[in-house]
Amino acid sequence: AYVITMPCRNEKAAECVEVCPVDCIAEGKDQYYIDPDICIDCGACQAVCPVDAIFHEEELLDEDLPSLEKAREFFTS
Ligand code: SF4
Repeated sequence: AYVITMPCRNEKAAECVEVCPVDCIAEGKDQYYIDPDICIDCGACQAVCPVDAIFHEEELLDEDLPSLEKAREFFTS
């Protein structure tokens, strides 16, 4: 799955929402989130993010790992 990281905070450009073919990106309070159980790893969102906030989970820096946890929590709550 792809993951939206910190640069999305207070940016929320939302270009990703328009391009996702499976409609798995939802608006949270301070950033957008990708549902990791639905994401099909197409990479379309990453290509259009103007602040380079989106990475594949296997490319996440250690400091961005909490962003994946936050996404999981967002979609399970
Ligand atoms: Fe949607 Fe593709 Fe981005 Fe996954 S990688 S969130 S399927 S646009």
